[in-house]
Amino acid sequence: MDQMRAARLHIPSRTLTIEDVPRPVPGAGQVLVKVEAAGVCLSDVHLIDGTLTPTYLPGDSVTLGHEVAGTIAALGPDVTGWTAGQRVVLQAGEVRDGRLLTRGVDYDGGWAEYALASVGTVFALPDSIPSEQAAIIPDAVSTPWGAITTTAGVRPAQAVGVWGIGGLGAHAVQLLRAVGAHPIIAVDPVPAARRRALDFGADLALDPADPQLREKVLEATGNRALEAAFDFAGDAAVREQALTVLAPKGRLVLVGLTDKPLTVTDGTRFSYLQHQILGHYGSEENAVPQLVALTEGGRLDFSRSITDVLPLADAAKAVQRLHTKDGDPIRLILRP
Ligand SMILES: [Zn+2]
Repeated sequence: MDQMRAARLHIPSRTLTIEDVPRPVPGAGQVLVKVEAAGVCLSDVHLIDGTLTPTYLPGDSVTLGHEVAGTIAALGPDVTGWTAGQRVVLQAGEVRDGRLLTRGVDYDGGWAEYALASVGTVFALPDSIPSEQAAIIPDAVSTPWGAITTTAGVRPAQAVGVWGIGGLGAHAVQLLRAVGAHPIIAVDPVPAARRRALDFGADLALDPADPQLREKVLEATGNRALEAAFDFAGDAAVREQALTVLAPKGRLVLVGLTDKPLTVTDGTRFSYLQHQILGHYGSEENAVPQLVALTEGGRLDFSRSITDVLPLADAAKAVQRLHTKDGDPIRLILRP
């Protein structure tokens, strides 16, 4: 049997190793994809540090990687409409038996030379979009897109705040600009991240430690405060701060994952202002093809999103760089 290299996480011990494993063979309804680029996400860091545990993984090891672009290598026996060599990008998860499974978490992902994909999770990639930029569309772009357009339902000219200008938050700023939100206020403790937010289209970038933060948000929004606020950091302090600058009927959308409790300090104020706190995960099935089309059509540009490309063998190094924010990466890409 043909072998391939894969970066696999052993869940009980949380050890990540590069292993030789059998190259998978596509079954009915599946294609085999030769991986050209796979993104490294903060949830990969959380899987490794133990704050995130797969819900539906059979067995105790998984090949990581839910942001994957590549080319079709082989088709399952009944699969039509695809040809070997065709460029594709993969959905970051899929619904099986009513359960939402995440690629590279609940089943093997793309930190490997090859990855299996159900045919419904495969989308054709135009030649104008490089594999590295395509790979991050599922999740790093599609998750904020879903949070903005579906969960928060942001309308043009609404005032919005984005906490955490990392891989997802940086894209959120660009996407909020694309849907016509105004003003877009970015909040991040790291000066480089605040500069990046302004480069990517934020109108104002604030330090969460700024004692004048509330006054500055009110001034920038003409005293309206924020109609939508997004927590991409998964941080308890962020959530409490965001509630202090939320407009009446404003929505706080929780995108960053944390295992810490959620606190509403002033329940009376929360109810009086009719605030809403909404959990968000992933995106609708049409998000990836929509974003591919918008990128192809020149409405979105992710050429600045790829901080570095590393070989698969450096997976652990890439995870460490993201964890320590070394070089303040937006997205690091593994190339098997
Ligand atoms: Zn992710």
